[in-house]
Parts: sequence; C-alpha cells; structure tokens
Amino acid sequence: MDRGFLFGDGVYEVIPVYQGKIFHLEAHLQRLQKSLDSIQITNPYPVEKWRSIFNELVESSPKSDQSLYLQITRGADAQRKHGFKALTPTVYVESNTLITKSKADLEKGFCALSQTDIRWHRCDIKSISLLPNVLYAQLAKESQVEEIILCRDNQITEGATSNVFMLKNDTLLTHPAGKDILAGITRSLVIKSAKACGLNVQEIAFSLDDAQQADGLWISSSTREVMPITQLDNLPIADGQISPYWHDVYEHYQQLKHD
Ligand code: PLP
Repeated sequence: MDRGFLFGDGVYEVIPVYQGKIFHLEAHLQRLQKSLDSIQITNPYPVEKWRSIFNELVESSPKSDQSLYLQITRGADAQRKHGFKALTPTVYVESNTLITKSKADLEKGFCALSQTDIRWHRCDIKSISLLPNVLYAQLAKESQVEEIILCRDNQITEGATSNVFMLKNDTLLTHPAGKDILAGITRSLVIKSAKACGLNVQEIAFSLDDAQQADGLWISSSTREVMPITQLDNLPIADGQISPYWHDVYEHYQQLKHD
C-alpha cells in the first residue's frame, strides 16, 4: 500500500561519491528539502542523521566511487485514496558503483535527439513519477543516442536526465532555473567552473536552431558530469569538434571533485 508504488508519490536524490567522499551532500539535501516541501512530506531526518546514514553506507560499500540513491515516499496508507493524510514516510537508500567516463571517451563526443517536452510544469521537483523520462530514456536506448534533449515552446529546457548548455563564442547559455527544469547540482558546478575558466554564463533559454548553430552543446548530471554532444538530430554541432572551453571546464570540474 505504499503511495510510492500506488501513485509515484515521492521524491528522490542521486548523489555522487568520489574516493569515499560524498560530493556536495549539503546541496543535495537542500534540494531534497525543497522537493519534500513542495509535496508536503515532512523530512524524516535532520541533516546530521542523513549524513551518518550515508557515511555508513559509503563505508560498507566496496568501491570508493559510488552513486548514492535516496528515495522518500509519503508512506503506506490503509486504502488507496488520492488524497493523503500524515503518514510515516518510507525511506530507501542504496549505493552503486559509479563509473565515470574517461576524458578520452568523452572527447569522442555523443549523439542526442530532440523531442517535445511533454512533462508537467513542476520539473523543479525531483519526483519519482518519471514516466516521460522513462519513455525518453527508452527512445535514447533504441536510437543508440546518449540523451534526449527536450523542447518546450521552441526552447530547449533540459535533457531527459540532464541539464543542457550551449556555447556561443565565449558565452555559455543554459535554461534558467524554475519550474521547467530540474536545476542540477552539477549544473551549478558547471556554471561555477565555466566562470572560473573565463566564460560568460547566461541563464537564458535558447532554441533548437540556436543549438544547431552553437560552438558546443554540453549536458551535465551527477553521474555523467559534463559531457559534449557533437551530434543533434543527426546533424553535427560545430562540425563535430569539441571546443577548448569544454576541456577547461572538464578539468576544472575534476579539480572540484578532489578539493
Ligand atoms: N534534469 C533532469 C531531468 C535530471 O533527471 C537530472 C539528473 O538526474 C538532472 C537534470 C541533473 O541533476 P544533477 O546534476 O543534480 O544530477
């Protein structure tokens, strides 16, 4: 009778761990709190308790690079009713080995396809209701591309499981945070890295046509870090070349992981 199972009534987080150290746990817990507040679930634990749960899990897992998955659902009720009352949330955590791609692999570039963004208007909530994302991921798998890039009202919002950046000259653009995207923790670190590498960063939306004419198209997520897309809808981006700015931002991001 868990409402996560019955209604997809819950939220989640994915948190990377590098060399046994949890990467930006505070930012993930803050986003978790925002997601919980948005759907009126009381956070079952204070920050310190979360920290000890995750540390115990990380220490008991064999690999030093890990991806932590945390899911909280509203809990189980006696009857299947859409409306809810206060319940005891169900908490699930797991750790998986995190295998990030090498720089040499990333430099080969990746393909993406665009699709209409059919998701709801609260993409800022990291909801476990992921049916559109699941269907996009399956399309990506069947089409043998890395990611599906989503467009709403002729603007690129984000990827099905990532945020999207476009490079034009020395400016990096990304869709503004708000209800149309999940503002990734990696997105904010890529913005920080890009600024440190001398890029101007503008959080403004851009179109599919803009992306096709870009000097670079990148996606970011906790498990993919920052990845260059060199082909969109079977057309090359920037003649399939990867901008030196990507190298700089990639290296800066690697540095952040070990600081
Ligand atoms: N946008 C969507 C829809 C996602 O599913 C994800 C990650 O799963 C992201 C963006 C990137 O978020 P983060 O960088 O916090 O992993």
